[in-house]
Amino acid sequence: MQESEKELREVAKKLLLEKKVDLIIGYEEGTLPLRTRPIFIREADETKKLVWNFRCENNLCFYLKMAKERVGIVAKGCDIRSIIGLIKERQIKRENIFIIGVPCSGIIDRKKIEDILEGRELLEGIESDSQIILKGEGLEEKVDKDKLVHASCKSCKYRNPVLYDTLIGKEVSQGEGEEYSDVEEFASKSDNERWAYFNDEASRCIRCYACRNVCPACYCPQCFVDQSLPTWFGRTLHPSDTLIFHIIRTLHIAGRCVDCGACSRVCPMNIELRMLNKKAEKDVKELYHYEAGISLEELPPMATFKMDDPQEFIK
Ligand code: SF4
Ligand code: SF4
Ligand code: SF4
Repeated sequence: MQESEKELREVAKKLLLEKKVDLIIGYEEGTLPLRTRPIFIREADETKKLVWNFRCENNLCFYLKMAKERVGIVAKGCDIRSIIGLIKERQIKRENIFIIGVPCSGIIDRKKIEDILEGRELLEGIESDSQIILKGEGLEEKVDKDKLVHASCKSCKYRNPVLYDTLIGKEVSQGEGEEYSDVEEFASKSDNERWAYFNDEASRCIRCYACRNVCPACYCPQCFVDQSLPTWFGRTLHPSDTLIFHIIRTLHIAGRCVDCGACSRVCPMNIELRMLNKKAEKDVKELYHYEAGISLEELPPMATFKMDDPQEFIK
């Protein structure tokens, strides 16, 4: 067992025994190869099930919005940025949350494993420090973990939690590489190419709303897509309706998205949602010098107004 996993279990056990929290939300091993899943622990003995590894990809903050008690949560850098957003937007109370921060060097992109498997069933996955061994019928392949890291993690500047009550393990080095290189490369394409790309992505969307449901920043009691009075746009799979859904959602999470990757991960149609979200993040950073989930005090640009706000769009 990794040292950090041992420490995590001890911290969680102590929190429950000392009644500092009523519930621990963390990760446990799943039933499928290489999968972890969320675990909700109320009994100290159960903390031995907690794990922390490269495969803990879920953003667990999603569950905080439903919790009615004092919660201890295992949180990576991006998850903590979500928590900060939820506190600022008064969806959760800081005093009800005990943040067990875990420095994180990146998490797995399961879709990269699916690409390697090419439809074959994965029967076993063995994780070591630097590699993952994939085993299945007629398959045994060693893959460097570096090659499986999620795109959001490669250039992540917040691998070490910016807010926590206790920190598990040691701090790690921040991600390298240019954060917006893929957005810039995309922006350099012609209008027609970009339009074709988005139409193609939107045409595959089945409007399941999994991307919205999993997003910690989406918490409206009634989402605009579900409203019928007024009906903002059609509920069809016509590209114009689907594109409007994605454009409006992108605007709603602009300056609030923390690039946790949960929406892209959950999409059953492999739609590249990150490109839109990251572009909105870049624009907010350049125009308003604001990054989501970094401070508890600074308000998101869309929730405040300043006389000197950039207004180039009013011409
Ligand atoms: S985005 Fe950063 S904090 Fe979040 S999982 Fe990736 S490396 Fe970890
Ligand atoms: S829009 Fe996607 S990447 Fe951004 S916070 Fe929501 S789930 Fe995470
Ligand atoms: S999860 Fe994917 S398919 Fe479902 S609504 Fe979102 S983009 Fe469309």
